[in-house]
This record gives sequence, C-alpha cells and structure tokens, in this order.
Amino acid sequence: MFPNTYFSKAKKYWYMGKLYDWSEGIFHPMMHALHYGTSTFEGIRAYPTERGPAIFRLKEHIDRFFHSASVIKMKVPFTKEEVMEACKLVIRENQLDSAYIRPLMFYSYGNLGLVPKFSPVELIIGAWEWGAYLGEAAERGSNACIVPKRRIHISQMDLSAKLGGTYVQSTINGIEAREHGYDEAIFLNLEGRIAEGPGENICVIKDGTLHTNDRNESILEGITRTSLLEMAPDLGLKPKIAPITKEDLFGADEAFFCGTAAEISPIVKVTDFSNGFNNGQTHIIGSGKPGPVTSRLAQAYKEVVTGKNPKYEKWLYLV
Ligand code: PMP
Repeated sequence: MFPNTYFSKAKKYWYMGKLYDWSEGIFHPMMHALHYGTSTFEGIRAYPTERGPAIFRLKEHIDRFFHSASVIKMKVPFTKEEVMEACKLVIRENQLDSAYIRPLMFYSYGNLGLVPKFSPVELIIGAWEWGAYLGEAAERGSNACIVPKRRIHISQMDLSAKLGGTYVQSTINGIEAREHGYDEAIFLNLEGRIAEGPGENICVIKDGTLHTNDRNESILEGITRTSLLEMAPDLGLKPKIAPITKEDLFGADEAFFCGTAAEISPIVKVTDFSNGFNNGQTHIIGSGKPGPVTSRLAQAYKEVVTGKNPKYEKWLYLV
C-alpha cells in the first residue's frame, strides 16, 4: 500500500491503458529505468477556468514527451492523441480543478544490460494538486546561488529531451543549494554564462526588455519561457533571446525563474559560488524585492492559464 501523503488529492493513476488506485503497487524492482534513469517525463499543469479545468499547452508538452522518447530510442506504445486523452482522463478521475500532471515513460522490466534490448517501454500518468514549487520563496523572491558545478553541456547530452538520468545533476545541486541555506540553484554553462535552474529557465528584465537565453547556452527551452516571450509585447516588453552573462543577471532590474512547476518565481538575491562553496559573493537583484514587471508578467500568465485572456485560449485544453 502506498499512501498519497505528498500527492494531495491523488486517488488514481493511469498505467498502460487502465486506471489503478493510487495505493496499488505494480512495478518490478529490476526494471531498467530504476537502475539507470532510462526514463522520460513531462511536467504539465492544469488550471481552473470558467469552463472547468484546462490543461495548459498540452499538445506542446506531449510533442516534447514524444521528442524526448525518440532521443532515448523508445517506441511509444500509444499515440499522441491517446496520451493527451489519458491526461484528461486522469484529471477527471481524480476530480482535480488544478493539477500537476506527470506522464512518465520508462524502460521497464526485461533485462538489465545497459542496452534495454528486452525491456518494454511503459507509460504511466499521475496527477495531483501541487502548489508553488519553490514554496514561500515564490512570494518573497528566491535567494538563489550559482553552484560550483557547471550545467551538463549541450555537446554532451541532448538537453531538449527531459530524460530521467539527466535530472540527477539537478537533484544533487538542488540539494546542495538548500544545504547551504539557499532557495534554489543556478547553473552556469561551460562557457561561464548563466544557463538555467535545476528545473527552471531564467529570465532577466532590463530597461523594458525580457531577456532569456536559448538551447545554445545548455538549457531546456521551456514551454513557460516560450509562452512569456510571446506574451511580452502585450505588456510593452521587448523579447530578447541572447546569452545571459553573470553581469546581466547581477545588474538586472529584475530576474525570475520560470517553468511549469515553478511558474514565475522572482529571484531577489544571488550568491556566486562558481569558484566553490567557500568563496561566494552576494549580489542583490534590483531593489532586492519582487519587482513590478515580474508581478505584471505573473498576473498576465495567471490570466492566460485560467482562461481569462481570449487571445491565448489556443493554449488551453479543456478536460
Ligand atoms: N529547464 C529545466 C531543466 C526543466 O526541467 C524545466 C521544467 N520542465 C524547465 C527548464 C522549464 O520548462 P517548462 O517551462 O517547459 O516547464
């Protein structure tokens, strides 16, 4: 029996075409993915709208899910349409108004050689109610730190794919940042410029420009980031995609993390530990408090995801 202690309101998950009670366990400990991180996943959110819960940019997330699967050479046992329908089904079955949705595909039980020749690909979808990913830091602004370890480089891994194994770096550095008393980690890339957070992209605001980086800087180009870039002109902001230097971040008017889980989460202070955790300098970003442009963007984003802005209804998938 598995309790749902940290999965608020989760009652059922969808696994290989059928619904199961959340407490039912059905996996083999020798499954390939558990040993080598040979999985791929998505993080999607659904928000309440006047017409019931709607999944934000479901198609883009499922497209990325299938792209990730192709990078790790998985043959997906369902069509994109079936996976989209299954995401909606899980929301309905759990009677969730707002939800974090986690489709996960993995090499399952078969063989344990590194090449999963005899390990079938299986798919599971869970959903639960999940509040602010960065907790209270989402409100007061994050006190973040640049960690000493550089982000895995784009020349080493295809970072456009969300692969389980790749996230080990995010987990280790996320833990280390918190062990040192910070809310979140920031990775530099091998070039020494700002890459991203462990599970978030980074944007800086300077003189009316919304500035973020792209795949060449060793990041996952997030769907939230792409949405904000498209919305920026509505708010009188000029979108800019270019490398972000440390100086760009430290000298920004405002800065924030963005991602499906983190949504828009201000960064108000950054300590630079790029030369080691015993050698850091702290920089206050802007006023040291969440800034007005970030707040306006967060408000605009909230209106979009909850169906209050007709211009972006194209991004909503009613369940
Ligand atoms: N970078 C990384 C490493 C992530 O895991 C995520 C979350 N998927 C993001 C950026 C933001 O992506 P998205 O906006 O698509 O959630």
